[in-house]
Amino acid sequence: MPTRRGFLKCLSAVGATLLPWYGWSEIFKIKIPQCAQASIPTSSTIRQGVNFVLQTDNKYLNRTATDDILALTSSELQGRRAGTVGEEKAAAYLMDQMKGLGLEPLGDLVDKNNHDYSNAFTVYPVVEEFYHGRLTFRPGNPDDLRTPSANIIGGLIGTNPTESVILSAHYDHLGIFQGNLYPGANDNASGVGCILDVMRRLLKEGIKPKCNVVLAFWSAEEMGFVGSYSFIEKPTFAGIQAVLNVDTVGNGPLGEFALWANSDNKAVQAIQSAAKENKVSASLAPNNGYNSDQVYFNMDNIPAVTLMARNWLNKNHTPDDVPDFVNPQKVSLASDILYSAVQKLVF
Ligand SMILES: [Zn+2]
Repeated sequence: MPTRRGFLKCLSAVGATLLPWYGWSEIFKIKIPQCAQASIPTSSTIRQGVNFVLQTDNKYLNRTATDDILALTSSELQGRRAGTVGEEKAAAYLMDQMKGLGLEPLGDLVDKNNHDYSNAFTVYPVVEEFYHGRLTFRPGNPDDLRTPSANIIGGLIGTNPTESVILSAHYDHLGIFQGNLYPGANDNASGVGCILDVMRRLLKEGIKPKCNVVLAFWSAEEMGFVGSYSFIEKPTFAGIQAVLNVDTVGNGPLGEFALWANSDNKAVQAIQSAAKENKVSASLAPNNGYNSDQVYFNMDNIPAVTLMARNWLNKNHTPDDVPDFVNPQKVSLASDILYSAVQKLVF
């Protein structure tokens, strides 16, 4: 979560000098650490609704949020700074998950009818700065070369495909600075694992939702919500009904969550109702100068909310934000809340 709300405004002001987009290099073939998995049978008729069969691979369906967190914090991914090879490897991992789960690509159009998972944009170089002990970014020289970055977007298509509910989480983090790796396990591999878990659960149930359930993994959030802003400026699909964003959900006492949103919109109401069902607290909290990817959706009058752990600042933006710091039970609870909330919005 960046501290500087004016960051993107600054980027936009100098954004007229865009250098040509030259595309990502070929996706890296990377080895992702795998955890041992129990075999879970796929059910196609757990609840009432429209049954459907997706080309979903059980190997992908049976992964857990912890598997995702371990994969994304692997040193090979170098802290996933936007515009770096580490981010590109993280993107490759996420695209592989989406493909394995049989999700429809909903990123950039590759021809008249077909999308890619990748939704490309570019980022400026940044300057690192410590603020109250946290590593943060401020804009670098706008005359310097921009580098490619991308959101990764794919979804489960509903019976009414003109409407979508987005489950989102940023997958970028801070990279390596002064020889220290910033793995960003809680911020925000935990959110990525959480929404992948919700999708895996929906797919295991085998019920086709009324509207599309879209997973959006934003990048360059740490540079001022650049990825989600880029998507809002040029969305790759229409009919967005609500955005449930997840950022840094795996620490602190179980049952203590907080929400960021500009109003008591329907996304907030869905999360609060779901939190109540799960007997946890999730009340709107003051931003205190911080923010996350719900912010530009709110400005565009799209109902959007960010769910986070109430104590999210603990170890945030430090090299100590490692997988052991993340409580899998808390991530699982966040998934339960998201899962109930999404039911209220898509069925
Ligand atoms: Zn952050």
